[in-house]
Amino acid sequence: MPELAEVAYYAKRWDPAQGQVIRRVHAGSKPRFFRHTPAAAFPAGLVGRSYSGARTHGKKLLFAFQGGLWLTGHLGMTGELLLGPPDHAPTTHDHLVLYTPRQALIFRDSRMFGAVRLEESPSGPPPAWLALPPEILSPSFTTARAAAALQRHPRSPLKAFLLDQDWFPGIGNWMADEALYQLHLHPATPSGTVDPAALRKTLRAICQKSMQTIAVDWSDPPPSWLMTHRWKSGGSCPRCRSGLARDTLRGRTACWCPTCQPPTAPAEASNPPKH
Ligand SMILES: [Zn+2]
Repeated sequence: MPELAEVAYYAKRWDPAQGQVIRRVHAGSKPRFFRHTPAAAFPAGLVGRSYSGARTHGKKLLFAFQGGLWLTGHLGMTGELLLGPPDHAPTTHDHLVLYTPRQALIFRDSRMFGAVRLEESPSGPPPAWLALPPEILSPSFTTARAAAALQRHPRSPLKAFLLDQDWFPGIGNWMADEALYQLHLHPATPSGTVDPAALRKTLRAICQKSMQTIAVDWSDPPPSWLMTHRWKSGGSCPRCRSGLARDTLRGRTACWCPTCQPPTAPAEASNPPKH
């Protein structure tokens, strides 16, 4: 699933079309993809307007068009954005294609968990976009905010909680595993026992490096990261060479080093939450 930096990488793919006028729109027929805005609204709203550019917030996408029209969306599990030639023939997975005289801007999603929405907002980005929670790299993502997050669900396993987009926008499965690895914490560590300052610092460092590598040219983060080893069959810890462990935690695959990230001591884990 595309996470923070992968989403940023995809968003830039439409940049060459900035300033180009949308001449034609292909909107597919899959109701799930158009669950927020009916397919017919896309050609009606977009044809004749120029494309101004993209920005991201966590896993969310925002595309600006001339005259205060905004396309918001997310890539879901398998979505991707591509740039094609102006005569691109849509495949069955190309749910939205915007044609300029020089390009085709393609939103492709093989499993249709992605979605788009079209919104008029003449004075700037739509209110819902402006109301999104602070991004991890923003100054508003303070240690106090991290502490408030961790205390919200103190018994929740940290791995599961890090996937909550209301608190940690952009963090997905591999980034959460990376944070746990760099913090030497087992995925099941209760959130309430985690040092908020250390969590904030680690999350920011991971986001920053990901934006400097993956988001720029899809290059790998440093080899000392779990991320660069977890995809290999088997795979071993870059720190201690132990074989990596994998298990399913609340429906998502977790990957960790059993030596560097031992389980929390049972006595500590069974303590009742403090009130
Ligand atoms: Zn290790």
